[in-house]
Amino acid sequence: MQVVHTVSGLRQMLGQHHSVGFVPTMGFLHQGHASLIQQARAQHQTVVLSIFVNPTQFGPNEDFEKYPRNLEADIRIAEEAGADIIFAPSVREMYPEGFATNIDVQGAALPLEGEKRPGHFNGVATVVLKLLNIVGAEAAYFGEKDFQQVAVIRQLVRDFNHPTRIVSCPTVREPNGLAMSSRNSYFSPEQKQRADVIYRALMAARDAYQQGERRSEAILQAGRVVLEGEEALNLEYFTLVDAATLQHVEVIGDSDHRLLVAARLFNVRLIDNMGLV
Ligand code: AMP
Repeated sequence: MQVVHTVSGLRQMLGQHHSVGFVPTMGFLHQGHASLIQQARAQHQTVVLSIFVNPTQFGPNEDFEKYPRNLEADIRIAEEAGADIIFAPSVREMYPEGFATNIDVQGAALPLEGEKRPGHFNGVATVVLKLLNIVGAEAAYFGEKDFQQVAVIRQLVRDFNHPTRIVSCPTVREPNGLAMSSRNSYFSPEQKQRADVIYRALMAARDAYQQGERRSEAILQAGRVVLEGEEALNLEYFTLVDAATLQHVEVIGDSDHRLLVAARLFNVRLIDNMGLV
């Protein structure tokens, strides 16, 4: 496996490769990231993983500075999962002197995370479009854990006619149900144990649906009861949306639906989601 830090170096390396699968990440890799690499490995001749903590998708009071980083450990995990090339550019390489163009995403980017983290998806869309252009992959692999992000990226490639195919992959969880995340490293072991509350709440809401409840308010109430049992939790949103439009729904119909939650637990911001079936 090779590690490259510049766009020109990566382009040189990729010159000979035909079928490229691409996995964009912010590093501090875990088994969730590894599952994306493995999925890409199964489909492509060459797998490129990017590691870039993108400053423009963090708000002024967010954790850009303290976001966990460990390139050595990442190299081991990426290699074991089957990546061929790690592209790890500096901020300067991605945003050189004179950089002055930004994407302004609307639609799927407006509700939920878009309201709680103003500017976040503009930063995501801008860096992802740059990365997709740099790598020129056949397909790029994203985690369903960031459900709204996948919707925003799909909208981006559709709106800009980008040829890279977007593939979404299921959420990988800890044994207690907590969705794996680089930010879980902020928790103590006891806090991490208690962070299963998010998963339990999603499951309780899904159970209500599976027992025949079709009113969204009643389904969400079943989950809220669980969330209210954890005093260290500050809920940002817990909603039931149409999976395509991300608009809140009142009564479950025939289309695809998704439970989406964001909360601070011991001051760590967590997001998670689940389907109803
Ligand atoms: P991040 O490094 O957090 O920006 O994540 C990079 C990619 O990995 C994104 O597409 C995430 O959705 C995906 N990802 C993060 N956590 C998980 C997980 N627990 N299961 C599956 N994919 C994940």
